[in-house]
This record gives sequence, C-alpha cells and structure tokens, in this order.
Amino acid sequence: MVKVVKFGGSSLASAEQFKKVGNIIRAEESRRFVVPSAPGKRFSDDTKVTDMLYKCYAEAEAGKNFDKQLKAIEERYNEIIKGLGLRLSLKEQFETIKKNFEAKAGSDYAASRGEFLNGIIMANYLGFEFIDAALVICFDKNGEFDSEKTNKVMTEKLKNVKSAVIPGFYGAMPNGAIKTFSRGGSDVTGSIVARAIRADVYENWTDVSGFLVADPRIVDNPKSIDIITYKELRELSYMGASVLHESAIFPVRKEGIPINIRNTNAPEDKGTFIVETTCNRPDCIITGIAGKKGFVSITIDKDMMNSEIGFGRKVLQVFEDNGISFEHMPSGIDTMTVFVHKDEFVEKEQKVLAELHRAVTPDTIELESDLALIAVVGRGMKNNSGLAGNIFSALAKAKINIKMIDQGSSELNIIIGVRERYFEDAIKTIYSVFVPEDK
Ligand code: ASP
Repeated sequence: MVKVVKFGGSSLASAEQFKKVGNIIRAEESRRFVVPSAPGKRFSDDTKVTDMLYKCYAEAEAGKNFDKQLKAIEERYNEIIKGLGLRLSLKEQFETIKKNFEAKAGSDYAASRGEFLNGIIMANYLGFEFIDAALVICFDKNGEFDSEKTNKVMTEKLKNVKSAVIPGFYGAMPNGAIKTFSRGGSDVTGSIVARAIRADVYENWTDVSGFLVADPRIVDNPKSIDIITYKELRELSYMGASVLHESAIFPVRKEGIPINIRNTNAPEDKGTFIVETTCNRPDCIITGIAGKKGFVSITIDKDMMNSEIGFGRKVLQVFEDNGISFEHMPSGIDTMTVFVHKDEFVEKEQKVLAELHRAVTPDTIELESDLALIAVVGRGMKNNSGLAGNIFSALAKAKINIKMIDQGSSELNIIIGVRERYFEDAIKTIYSVFVPEDK
C-alpha cells in the first residue's frame, strides 16, 4: 500500500501544526510521498506566506526596498524550524531568493518559494528525500501544464525513491522558468504525484473533516458526506463548495485512484472519499446541496419561436460574442430564458440587449436580477420517484416561489432557481426534507 499525502497551508502554519503532520505521516508506513503547501494562516487575520511573497515581490518589481518584508517571511520559517528543534538554516536560500527578486525572476517564482522552503523543512523534519517540483512538474513553453511529459518524468524520478517530499503548487517550463498552478494548486500537485506512482489513495489533509451535505453557515451542524463520486463533486463544486482545487480530480481520475479528504486537527475522522463510482448509497438519498447567488435571467419571447430553426444558436452567439458564459437555459414553446452571472453581465447589459434584438427580433425581452441557483445533487436520485415532488411541496409549504427548475436526464441533480432573499431558507428547507433531524 502506498499513499500520497498532501497537507494544506493551515496544516503547516506553525511548528505545532507540523508536529501533528509528522505524527500523521509516521502513523502509517504507506504515507511515503508528501506534498506540502506553504505555511497558511496561524489565526484568522494572519497572512498566508504565499500572499506575503506576492506582496514582497511586487515591491521588488517596483524597484522599492523589500528587505523588511523578506525578513518577515524568513521569520515565519525560522519560527517553525526553531519550534521543531531542527538544525537547519535557510540563510543561503533566502540570499538566493533576494538576488532573484532583484533580477525580477517573476511573481510565479516568488510565490513558489513558499512551498519550496516548506518542502525543505518538511524533508529535514521527516528524514525524507527532497525533490524540487521544478524537476518533475513540467509546463510547456506557453505555460500550459504538460501532463503526459510530467507523468513520464515523475514516474522515472520516483521509481526507486523510498520516501520523498515534493513541494506543491509549482513546476517549470522548458527554459527552467518557474510556473505555478492557480491558487490552491498544491492539491493538483498531490494528484499528479499520486497518478505517477499509482498510489492506492491520495490523502488530502486540510482543516475540515471532508465535505458536508450543506453549507454549515446556512444549515446548523450538517451531516458529513462519507463517499462522493467525481461527477457529484463537480456538480457541487461548480456551485461553490471549495475544499479541493477543481483541477485536482483529473490526474487521479485517469488512474481510478480515490481521494480522501482528511482533517489534520481531527485525524481520527474518516473524512470524505471521492471515487469514480460506487455501489454505496448515501443514506439520505441526496449527496449534497450547494448554491450560489448573483444570477440574472434574460427571458426572450417570440411567437412561433419553436419553428424558427437556429433561434437558440443566434441567442447564444450574442452571449458568446460578449464573453458571457451561460449557466442554464430552460425554455418553453415560444420562450427561452438564459441564466448568466450578474457580474459578467451588468456592464454589457445594454449592448447584449441591442444585439439580441438585432439577432432574433424578439417580441419582448425581460430581465430579472438577484436570483440564486441551488443544486440538489445525488447518485441516489436515479430511479427514485417522488423526490422532486417532495422538494417542491416543501418549498411551497415554506412559501418559497420557484423561478426555475432544471433536471438533467442523468438524474444526478436538480437545479432550482429562487429569488436571492429565499436562498438560505430554500436550502434549509430542502435539507430538512432529506435529512430528518434524528439522523
Ligand atoms: N500556497 C498556494 C496558495 O496559497 C498554493 C496552495 O496552498 O495550494 O494558493
């Protein structure tokens, strides 16, 4: 059995957290490949080292003095080294970083040093080999991640390695320039390493015990999710749940490796397993509920719309030309509604309307803003009758008017549109339909 274990920033923010991580790794021999993030926040209004690095580099790039800021970053690491009682100095590394900042090595280089340095400390603390991610994570010359080359290089490099620390978040382009993934990208590195070594499990350690059925800021003490499929997670993450970087599922999915979300502060919790498919049924039919506010609906009416070939394409072309992605598109016989994100739409509103008039000469166009979409997701919904009925009668009882309903034929989710002011109540109501209080 071999596992890749990735630890997020809050799991590595201080020596105290590092010690918890050390205990977790030592508890199982299979935990042989470790992917650390940079030190995160130690308390709620603390600053993540990655953010300190971006800021510090911005000063350097502007030709300002950045000594003080770099010193503060060095202090963060020294505090960890001291707390762990290690005989390690990062003095040389910081001298190199300073020189490279002065030479304007780029903000990706700057940000990557957060995980690079944390990786050195982690390897020293565990007695594992340190492997610089710049050697094994490959981006092409346009800065796009090169997954096949990476898989080859990484597999070769790790072939005979017993245990190693590979810092998250970055890699290098063919010319050696450092390139990072988007924020939170250490999750992606962990997944890439798991694929390369064909790990049995990719454990992703963070500060929550996995996913919850609903947002705890809306529902009191929601139930946690034991198992979720990749597809269900996509449906939920797309609506806002953000424990895992959304690109992190692709490398492991290719190899059928499950991801296990675990809590560094509660290692006894089993967390959530993310799997390709499972015959395990969630005990409350649905797997999760997630939602998002900030949508606008554009309803286009035109007599005989249904017989006008190309009508839908012309409408969507207008949105495409304006760089606006659409979220949903329910339609009637002579009407079609397009749901878009308000922040992508507002500034272009009048332009879009004019172009729609030109493109399809509608009878009327109506706009409604302040809408929220709620996704009720679950593999257990398939072939289950009465479920939609239960949701809608509960919402009706709670006097919540439904603006839109959309169920795909995959029967994996039902999307419900409501006015923003009903958003929280709608989620609470749906939750209570599926998760009886005594469960
Ligand atoms: N340290 C990086 C960030 O704050 C990457 C990561 O933590 O995954 O975004």
